[in-house]
Order: sequence, then C-alpha cells, then structure tokens
Amino acid sequence: MKNIVLLGATGSIGIQTIDVCLAHPDEFNIIAISAGKNISKLKEILNKVHIQEVCVAQKEDAQLLKKEFPDISIGWGEDGLIHLVTLSSADLVVNALVGFVGLTPTLKAIEAKKDIALANKETLVVAGEIVMKACRDHKIKLTPIDSEHSAIFQCLQGNDIREVKRLIITASGGSFRKLSREECKNVTVKQALAHPNWLMGEKITIDCATMMNKGFEVMEAHWLFNLSYDKIDVLIHEESIVHSMVEYQDHAIIAQMGTADMKLPIQYALSYPKRLELCGSECLDLVKVGTLHFRAADKIRYPLLEFAYKIGRMGGNMPAVMNAANEVANLAFREGRIGFLDIEDIIMKTCDAIPYKKEIALEDIYEADYLAREKASEFVKGVKK
Ligand code: MG
Repeated sequence: MKNIVLLGATGSIGIQTIDVCLAHPDEFNIIAISAGKNISKLKEILNKVHIQEVCVAQKEDAQLLKKEFPDISIGWGEDGLIHLVTLSSADLVVNALVGFVGLTPTLKAIEAKKDIALANKETLVVAGEIVMKACRDHKIKLTPIDSEHSAIFQCLQGNDIREVKRLIITASGGSFRKLSREECKNVTVKQALAHPNWLMGEKITIDCATMMNKGFEVMEAHWLFNLSYDKIDVLIHEESIVHSMVEYQDHAIIAQMGTADMKLPIQYALSYPKRLELCGSECLDLVKVGTLHFRAADKIRYPLLEFAYKIGRMGGNMPAVMNAANEVANLAFREGRIGFLDIEDIIMKTCDAIPYKKEIALEDIYEADYLAREKASEFVKGVKK
C-alpha cells in the first residue's frame, strides 16, 4: 500500500488521480491533498474521500473549511504545501500543480526522500538540472505523468538508454492545427480552449494551441531521460493515438498507443513497475481508428517550438524566463487582454530583455521568474487591442 500526497487535487489530473486511487484501494491510500481556490470542488472531494490533511491557497479558505471539517487538519499557502510533502507517513507525492509554483514543493519532497509522480512539467522546464541532481543525491524515483513522457518511459523498459537513437514526441497540433498563422490572428479564447482530442485544464490547452506545451515537453524529455536536444524530435500526429516513440540504433521504433485518456499515464506513474487493470476506461479499438497520420512539425507555423529548442540549449536562467513570460501571456490571453499571436511575441521579447546567466543556482531561477513576470506584464500592458 502506497501512502499518497496529491498536490493540485481539484484540477484535471488531480481528479483523475483520485479516481485511479479509489479504483485500487488495496494499492493506494491518499493521505493528504492540496487545492488552490476551487473550494466547492475540494468540498466535494472531502465529502467523498477520507483525507487526513489538506492545504489550500488562502488563509481565509482554510479557516472556513476548518469549521465545516473539524476532524481534518487544514493548512494554507506554501508552508502548508511543504508540510504535506514532508509528512513522515507519505511514500509518494503526485505533483499536479500548474506552473512555477510546483517547483518548491517538488524540491522539498525530494529532500524529504519522497518518490515523485510528476505532472507539473514546469518544474523540469525551469530547474531540470537542479531537480534531477536532487533526485540522484537523495536516491528518489521520479516518474512522469505527462502522456508523452510516460509513453517514452514505457518504451524504454527493458532497453538501454545508451542504445537510443532518438525520442519522437508526438503532438496533436492543438486547437488551431487547421488554421494558418494569418487565420490565428483573430481567434477567440473559446476557440482556443476547444482541444480536438484531450480534455485538460485551461492553461495547458492554450499551451497546446501555441505549441509552447510541446516545447516544454522537449525540455522535460531532455532532463528526464538525460538525452541531448539533437536526439529529441517532434512529429505532428493528429489522432493522439501514438503517445510517443523511441527509436533505437538498430532502427527499431517502439511506440506506446492508447486512447486519449490521462488515467493510464497517471496510474502507471503510481503503480510502476506494476501494471494494474485500468478501470472505467475504454480499450483502444484500432479497427475503429483505421488510419494514423504523421507529418513534420512546421517551424514557421509553430515558432515557439523552435524557440523552446533554442532556449533549452542555452539553458541557465533562460528556461525560467521563458516559462514565466508564458504564464503571464497565457493568462492575459485567457482574460482577453491580448490576442493569440501576442503570446509568442511577448515570450520572445521577454527572453530578449532579461540578461542571460549561464551558470545558475536555485536563487537565480526564482530571480529570473520574478524579473520575467515583471517584464512580460509590461509587454502585456503595451499591447493595443
Ligand atoms: Mg503532454
């Protein structure tokens, strides 16, 4: 039985993680969860699942919840998150937070020798080197929940990473894959949030449409599997059936296939190396699918993908700058303050404006995040709509 701490319980990954755990009560026991500001969803969970410890974003919410759930220990803010990930009874931390806020709890969990199932890709984007070194130093297992990385992880089982020729990360192309750049100029938030294959949170759905998400995933793969950027390719695959592939030096390509359902990568990250029955999900019917399509990822159509390779190769503080600028611009677009193509413009201008530091410590990452948010917010204000 694994005792699990779940960060980001009310989000898309969080809810599905709870479903996976409830389907296997002999394997998994959720002892603590965190939520942000979605208190009504949190109450639903607390009324359904017996949880001992909870953390929310705001003190006021914690105080109100305490009255309604007097038997549950309820904390708040970053200290509350750190308390959860360092609980002595915890075996595994599932980090399903969205954005830069996921970094500190990941590092604190690693220091407390907790294994990590990671859905918070921004953790590796901004501080991949530091996080992976901490995992090695503390002998921690970090398993990916991101579907592409779970696919690669599965394709690597029983093989030697030194025999890998390249990783092939698949991309659906996002909500605007049928549109030209010209046609992307005036798209609405509602259109951007309608992902063709996956039902996900809002921030990542926009990141898919801009391809920033795929750029992040290239960086995530670089750190997770310790392979150079030259060995990581992206292929557009509109059906989202092949979740990613590994090509070996003997030219064998091993792919992992499945329906567009995050429950499998979540469950595998929790149960690894075991494979459990997947409850409440349909099997993939290849006869129904019939045909699979693949095409190259167009660098001109998706400049942020190419840009992410450049920033990834630069390293240092730049990935943190790019991530922060993206968080600001992504939110500004969702709030209707900027246009869709302004997102990439603001990210690139912010990376240009912040001085590059090659050799960095953890403090430099927090500093880069802060400075880039300030700068990107200025650029957002300068956009004429
Ligand atoms: Mg993904």
